[in-house]
Amino acid sequence: MAHGEDVLQRLVVMSRRLADPALDCVILAEGNTSARIDGESFWVKASGFKMAGIGPEGFVAMRTAPLLGLLDEGRLSDEEVKAHLAAARLDPTVALRPSVEAVLHAIALTAGGAQYVGHTHPTAVNAILCSRRAEEAYAGRLFPDEIVICGPAPVYVPYTDPGLPLAREVYQRIRGYIEAHGETPKVILMQNHGLVALGRDPDEVEAITAMAVKTARVLLGAFAAGGPHHLSQEAVNRIHTRPDELYRRQLLKGQAG
Ligand SMILES: [Zn+2]
Repeated sequence: MAHGEDVLQRLVVMSRRLADPALDCVILAEGNTSARIDGESFWVKASGFKMAGIGPEGFVAMRTAPLLGLLDEGRLSDEEVKAHLAAARLDPTVALRPSVEAVLHAIALTAGGAQYVGHTHPTAVNAILCSRRAEEAYAGRLFPDEIVICGPAPVYVPYTDPGLPLAREVYQRIRGYIEAHGETPKVILMQNHGLVALGRDPDEVEAITAMAVKTARVLLGAFAAGGPHHLSQEAVNRIHTRPDELYRRQLLKGQAG
């Protein structure tokens, strides 16, 4: 499990950093994170743990296939879902319970194309997502660096009961996004709930989260100044596909050279 342990160590560091109080993304036991171990399994935060100061003991390894299989099941009671989640643990002898959003993480790490996932409830992002104009606010992009880091658009998900119903809705909307854009998303925005950042590595998850928080703050200011002026689709497409912007994306992520 050497590979899995390395992934876990990086996930622990990422989770602690996302929980930095200065970022105002999570308090108490809010939020959860995950990382792909291989094609068959992943780590996810266990239920009840705080992300701040979390250690490797706060994560549980899950088998991916049985969780994705729940998407095709009929209606399941909360107790049935809990039993399925417990049965999907890689090591059934560990006492930890996976986060109720474990199925959502399994989707983000497969259909969503991510290697690392950070789900948080940033105050600035939720100020928009809990407003009457949430969908309108996120119907377009606002500035170039937002596109560079967060992609050409977010996946927007109307409020859905957390757990399996939310996971099913997210799955459908990720599929719709891939059909529309020809690539996997970077950001999922869940109305009246929060943010999911989908990254290739921990640095990208942190960069996406920071940029989503900045975007939300810009939106709050834009609404105070008469409402957001979204970039045209043509402008968004140009930024998203320009070679110099691709280079800048590498630089912003500190991966160039
Ligand atoms: Zn949440």
